[in-house]
Amino acid sequence: MKVVVIAGGQGTRIASVNSEIPKAMIPINGKPILEYEIEMALRYGYMDFIFIIGYMGEQIEAYFGDGRKWGVNIEYFKEDKPLGTAGALGNLKDQLTEDFFVFYGDTVMDFDMNAMQEYHKKKKADATLFVHPNDHPYDSDIVDLDDHGRVCRFYNKPHISDFVSRNIVNAAVFIFSPAILSCIEIGVKSHIEKNVLPMCLEKGMRLYGYLSFEYIKDMGTPDRYYSVCQDMISGKVTRMNRCNPRPAVFLDRDGVLSKEVNLLCKPEQLELIEGVPEAVRYINQKGYLAIVVTNQPVIARNLCSIDELNYIHAKLETLLGHEHAYLNAIYYCPHHPDNGYLEERKEYKIKCMCRKPSPGMLLQAASDWNIDIGTSYMIGDRVSDVQAGESAGCKQSVQVETNRPYALLDVLKSLI
Ligand SMILES: [Zn+2]
Repeated sequence: MKVVVIAGGQGTRIASVNSEIPKAMIPINGKPILEYEIEMALRYGYMDFIFIIGYMGEQIEAYFGDGRKWGVNIEYFKEDKPLGTAGALGNLKDQLTEDFFVFYGDTVMDFDMNAMQEYHKKKKADATLFVHPNDHPYDSDIVDLDDHGRVCRFYNKPHISDFVSRNIVNAAVFIFSPAILSCIEIGVKSHIEKNVLPMCLEKGMRLYGYLSFEYIKDMGTPDRYYSVCQDMISGKVTRMNRCNPRPAVFLDRDGVLSKEVNLLCKPEQLELIEGVPEAVRYINQKGYLAIVVTNQPVIARNLCSIDELNYIHAKLETLLGHEHAYLNAIYYCPHHPDNGYLEERKEYKIKCMCRKPSPGMLLQAASDWNIDIGTSYMIGDRVSDVQAGESAGCKQSVQVETNRPYALLDVLKSLI
């Protein structure tokens, strides 16, 4: 499989850091960003690269040559005039006859490329987009996925003011099949996110989102440059690779994140407890995954549909997103063991393995995201939360007072 790197960007916003070199050559610890990309790909056995170069591209060519020094093969495609992120790809139809990765040259990342490739294959996708939650979803391109991970819609920025969505953002790393190239008009300026992918979707092609919490950040602004450098030096970039087990904080929802309302089933009932955005941000910054595990018998009681519950969770993520905080995943148990309610949905009236105090949701999350339970925490407002955390094997499980402002932040600061 080939790796195409789009390295023609002019990088106006980063100019204050270094205006004399193309974005892809911006050094971190004395090494260009692009070189880290090559090294990562090589680690997963990808050796064939095509660099699309433009603005000051001769510097890239002079540095990397044919790639022999790194044990890889590099071909170049030189853009005479900038054709956007997609325009040049259209010219590569002859070279791209099987599925290929697409990177941008100014992205700092470390992810398990093989896991993404396996997902792409399993889904028989025409395109797979790496997606993740971030701390500024309100000004990011949002990808709407169905329960199977298939893309249903793109919501590109800017968003309307009362926009509500899950925090699932396009990270700008892709696997494309050659079929995608048919959506690119040769010689016409176009962009992958703005033009090509929406057109592929319209044509009914199979686009999938690959959700992962590995480190992927672009160097868009000087501020981001400095934070990325720090993450590289501190080892955070590598540590986030899914090959390395990561710790999590498991969180109950009602009474811990959002105000406890008896059987919350409408989005307008959802309100964050004071101090919760700060608490979730604290988890994010400490490098722990923030995973919600919540019993939602409202489904079994038929007080709310799965779609409505998803919308409530979208609102939860939107409110947190406005405050630069994000959840990595939300697990809910829709079941309830007791029969006898009038409107109940029989199919959910079962004794399951996920309803807390059973540890099912925590164990499922651990297997989905390679979580090291032994270094993870469970925080809830009921005894059943603590029991679930203990049965799962968490390092510690803590009960906090229902709806108390800053309770979550206080306990987190004593734990991590
Ligand atoms: Zn359940």
